[in-house]
Amino acid sequence: MNIATNPLDLKSETAALLAALGVDAAAFTGGDMASRTPVTGEVIAQLPTDSAEKAKAKIDAADAAFRGWRQVPAPRRGELVRLLGEELRAHKADLGRLVSIEAGKIPSEGLGEVQEMIDICDFAVGLSRQLYGLTIATERPGHRMMESWHPLGVVGIISAFNFPVAVWSWNAALALVCGDSVVWKPSEKTPLTALACQAILARAIARFGKDAPEGLSQVLIGGREIGEVLVDHPKVPLVSATGSTRMGREVGPRLAKRFARAVLELGGNNGGIVCPSADLDMALRAIAFGAMGTAGQRCTTLRRLFVHESVYDQLMPRLKKAYESVSVGNPLTSSALVGPLIDKQAYDAMQKALEEAKSGTSGGSGSVVGGTRVDTGAPDAYYVRPALVEMPAQTGPVLEETFAPILYVMKYSDFDAALADHNAVAAGLSSSIFTLNMQEAERFLAADGSDCGIANVNIGTSGAEIGGAFGGEKETGGGRESGSDSWKAYMRRATNTINYSKALPLAQGVSFDI
Ligand code: NAD
Repeated sequence: MNIATNPLDLKSETAALLAALGVDAAAFTGGDMASRTPVTGEVIAQLPTDSAEKAKAKIDAADAAFRGWRQVPAPRRGELVRLLGEELRAHKADLGRLVSIEAGKIPSEGLGEVQEMIDICDFAVGLSRQLYGLTIATERPGHRMMESWHPLGVVGIISAFNFPVAVWSWNAALALVCGDSVVWKPSEKTPLTALACQAILARAIARFGKDAPEGLSQVLIGGREIGEVLVDHPKVPLVSATGSTRMGREVGPRLAKRFARAVLELGGNNGGIVCPSADLDMALRAIAFGAMGTAGQRCTTLRRLFVHESVYDQLMPRLKKAYESVSVGNPLTSSALVGPLIDKQAYDAMQKALEEAKSGTSGGSGSVVGGTRVDTGAPDAYYVRPALVEMPAQTGPVLEETFAPILYVMKYSDFDAALADHNAVAAGLSSSIFTLNMQEAERFLAADGSDCGIANVNIGTSGAEIGGAFGGEKETGGGRESGSDSWKAYMRRATNTINYSKALPLAQGVSFDI
């Protein structure tokens, strides 16, 4: 769609984009939940929220749909996801723009997020013909043993504001080819892109035809209380929940209590090590994108950096220069590389962490470059200059994820000590090392190296591809989604033994003759 509107009339532009994407105006006007754009801080829509009863009815409908969908052959289910990929390609510009308006991402990142959705659809289509089980050698003659993978049921998806559409697609594309139905509770900060995705999927379903049962995909609009309905519902055997570790601490035990599966994708406090042999040009670019990109609001954002003392004085002036010169501003009307924080709460949390780092109350005071608010003329928008903080040691706020662009830098002299410090935080999502020394690189990837779910060499911590399994250890929750064999979480496994002999030999030589 080509909308020639005043770029600051974001309410009208949002309504036009949603209409072009196929969302009914009643879904985003006149409701009780205000939706704001972080670009200007203004309210751009009013959504009607779902009551607990309505949410339960939607989950029941998804469960009924599952019962039909699981009978559809997997390659045919893949055809629906292929059509979803086609629809996403056709609507990439509009959806990417909506992501930029709703989450404040710069245009290439808004579009990049939609590209990630397209990529996972392609992956899932191939997967729909590769949901392989094993054939296993049995100890009994005239027997065959095998593994079958069956659809699981309703998959609940809870997502965070910072990847408002990609996270849904990682889960939904896999769940749909695995024969599951999906119920999505998007972040209350980004509900509009969820309505858009649902409308795009509805187009794909309409093209797919009657094999797709009604109710296959549902969206629940509301706050965390609606998420809790999804978490507690007995007809939801798996909840894939992406968000803060605080959220996972609440959701995990609730799911465990009813023996439901959890895929938890929680906070990160990602670290990088710059070794004496590092290619500093490459490291500089990777650090700058990893720490400042998406205004520090990626789960994989680089937050802690350990730099060897022999290269510290070469790297730091260049890094400071990059921090001082990076452009911050309205992502829709300028070519700024750093857009807004999501809201005032995020800004306040950033200032609190910087105060703590400066004050030294937590055991070492840091010197700070940046961190100040940038005035774009919109009082309710929160733009900040990314902050670079040199810390004498890893203490206080360095140990926690503050979801904002703050990079703490520490000097090291001993590799083992740096590795130990790298692993000495509660989260375990992404990590990277910059080195041309093979021993250091391999050690970082070894069993006694980085303890994260993602460990990279000469690449930054952020910007993962969908082909790999995505997720992290420790307080990041242990879940894996997207590529590799993550699909197995969305299916149930049955071990089958078939006796084609005329005898009934018991396993382990047991005799039980009656
Ligand atoms: P958040 O935890 O505030 O909210 C995430 C989602 O959880 C929202 O939809 C929210 O409504 C829901 N929720 C919150 N409490 C709930 C409860 N008790 N029961 C059910 N649902 C509940 O997170 P956020 O501020 O939107 O996102 C930022 C956080 O997400 C950061 O910590 C970031 O690292 C993390 N994140 C992690 C990944 C990952 O893959 N590991 C990806 C993206 C974001």
